Amino acid sequence: MSTAKLTINLDALVANWRNLNAMTNCETAAVVKANGYGLDAGRVAKALAQAGARNFFVAAAEEGVALRRALGAGPGISVFSGHMDGDTRLLKDFQLTPMLNSLEQMLRHFESLPGHAFGVQLDSGMNRLGMEPAEWAAVGEIALGQSPVLLMSHLACADEPAHEMNAKQLKTFREMTSGIEVPRSLAATGGILLGPEYHFDLCRPGIGLYGGRPYLDALPVASLDLPVIQVRDLEAGESVGYGNAWIAKRPSRIATVAAGYADGLQRALMNTGIDTFAGETPCPIVGRVSMDLITVDVTALSDVPSHLSLLNERQGVDILADAAGTIGYEFLTSLGHRYARTYLG
Ligand SMILES: *Cc1c(COP(=O)(O)O)cnc(C)c1O
Repeated sequence: MSTAKLTINLDALVANWRNLNAMTNCETAAVVKANGYGLDAGRVAKALAQAGARNFFVAAAEEGVALRRALGAGPGISVFSGHMDGDTRLLKDFQLTPMLNSLEQMLRHFESLPGHAFGVQLDSGMNRLGMEPAEWAAVGEIALGQSPVLLMSHLACADEPAHEMNAKQLKTFREMTSGIEVPRSLAATGGILLGPEYHFDLCRPGIGLYGGRPYLDALPVASLDLPVIQVRDLEAGESVGYGNAWIAKRPSRIATVAAGYADGLQRALMNTGIDTFAGETPCPIVGRVSMDLITVDVTALSDVPSHLSLLNERQGVDILADAAGTIGYEFLTSLGHRYARTYLG
């Protein structure tokens, strides 16, 4: 096997969904935008549908089309970007539910797809998507007259439980929806962890399903094993890789493994104390990460295995993301197309 291996544990994913679901008394949907946070929306959603998930969220109508093809008829598929110009056909033919974000989208939807299911996204303070309080006050009646299936909003700071923005948005969302007999949704992963007042009728976790912060109890879902292409012995003073960025301080054995920044293993991972692992033995990344290759100090090993593990139970998504100066979401969605993928479960 000459390409790096990405193993995705669907049993762990399902367990994360079940455990998040058990924290609430409401429905738990699943967010599978960006191709299931890079892990394959179709497979992820099928596994979750089997476990009982009935509703899925994607970012764009085109993602919804791919997901409908994978899931078949039945499960709900909702689109955060709403009903954009050019989406009408896709929404209709693939039974996608747009979360309408503006008066413009509402008019487009009611005119082109009368009677077609929709939800409304409300802006409770994040200022990214959805109708603002004044707009909603003015046109909410029209939307409610057409029987939306969901009123939703999104929290900007849910990963910081003590942030005052959480209570502020909760209050605004309550004010915008009080007395309305339509199912409501406010919480993503972070919102589930904030507690029951944030749960309403439906929660929409994404990152927690895939094993990332802020759901610290998540089981790891993705793992990476990088094949060793070549091993060489260096004398003290010899350098490794572009820019001579690492110099051996002692006689050293260096393994070159097949993966690099084109596989989402950012250049920023060098000199951060990130290790690869041969079993329990850490072998640090040394020198610059190049496009297709990473060099690793395997001096500690008596035998160099065929693969070195980079992402595993010990060194999870968030550790690698922190080292690269990013977040688990970006790390996962950057992994790219070159891996040999194996799905467990
Ligand atoms: C991405 C997203 C989610 C899921 O968020 P996580 O933090 O990954 O759980 C939920 N709702 C909206 C509107 C989103 O954009």
